[in-house]
Amino acid sequence: MIDFCVLGSGIAGSTIANLLSKKYTVEIFDKARGPGGRSSNRRYKKNLSFDHGVQYISPKDKLFKKFVLNLKKKNVLKIWGGNHIDLNLKSGNSSKYIGKKGNNDIAKFLIKNIKKNFNSPITKINFTNNYWEITSNDKIYHFGNLIITCPYPQLIAISKNYLNNIIKKLKIKMSPNITTMIVFKKNYNIPISSIKFQSNIIAWAANENSKERFKSKESLWTIQTNEKFSKKYINSLKKNKKKISNIIINEFLKLTSFNKKDIIFYNSHGWKYSYNLSGSPIKSYWNKKFKMGICADWFIGSKVESSWLSANDLLKKIK
Ligand SMILES: Cc1cc2nc3c(=O)[nH]c(=O)nc-3n(C[C@H](O)[C@H](O)[C@H](O)COP(=O)(O)OP(=O)(O)OC[C@H]3O[C@@H](n4cnc5c(N)ncnc54)[C@H](O)[C@@H]3O)c2cc1C
Repeated sequence: MIDFCVLGSGIAGSTIANLLSKKYTVEIFDKARGPGGRSSNRRYKKNLSFDHGVQYISPKDKLFKKFVLNLKKKNVLKIWGGNHIDLNLKSGNSSKYIGKKGNNDIAKFLIKNIKKNFNSPITKINFTNNYWEITSNDKIYHFGNLIITCPYPQLIAISKNYLNNIIKKLKIKMSPNITTMIVFKKNYNIPISSIKFQSNIIAWAANENSKERFKSKESLWTIQTNEKFSKKYINSLKKNKKKISNIIINEFLKLTSFNKKDIIFYNSHGWKYSYNLSGSPIKSYWNKKFKMGICADWFIGSKVESSWLSANDLLKKIK
């Protein structure tokens, strides 16, 4: 029997899977098509893609910084240079690290040697005879231990029978985000890498061409809406994608000098559980009786760094 099942291949899942794999056998299940979770990369065509989740990493914690610098040395991460403009006049000047090919590069790197199943949602978990029965795609798998790394509302849905009051009482609320990806047929060669806007709709836009991962005649922009707009439209996005995407695109065109006629592709993605700003009194959770662990960003904050720290904290508890 494999020692650990890890639910999720986002930063928390890939980090804990990588750490555990140094001593134990590990297998990952993710409902998504590929690794990364919210640190994902959406391919448009050939090597052209959008980071439609995590934008960049600016490490603060000393150990996480060391991890990031090590990944830079290994050519997994690089610095996103150029002009990052903040129209709210708040921006710091800390270094912005991004994946060499896409922002799912960290997860890919961490789990490259680990057994993983994509398009594999875990739909049922059952602890019996001192091991875990895991159901995915109508098949049952057995594992010694289980680690869950998904957003808090999804955690409650799948595992509430195995959670104690410490976790249940946290009642973490997670804010949504709507991200729109646009391709213009021209490369405007704009010397701007990202813009934080003052707008009732858009919070931020990233110039994908400025990440120097590809050379193209087209320009790719990723736009993130602000919290108020995202909350208002997240539940109707699937049904009214065209209408909501157009509201976002029209606002972007108003804030910039781009031409609607040049748009050759767009798509919007809704992140129902994007980030939690409050954090919690604990950094991770390990239940010895059920041999079940939980690590994720929402224990600590709302960043890649929070997920990484939570996974490292969980490893100490398991040990
Ligand atoms: C739009 C957006 C922009 C962001 N920008 C930044 C940024 O610039 N910098 C930064 O540091 N952070 C940013 N964040 C936050 C960052 O993405 C998260 O903090 C971090 O990626 C969370 O990682 P995680 O592993 O904890 O969770 P997730 O990435 O959510 O991983 C959970 C995984 O579990 C899987 N899963 C869920 N349920 C199941 C199930 N039942 N069975 C199998 N698999 C399941 C999911 O598919 C997912 O892959 C952003 C987030 C969003 C949404």
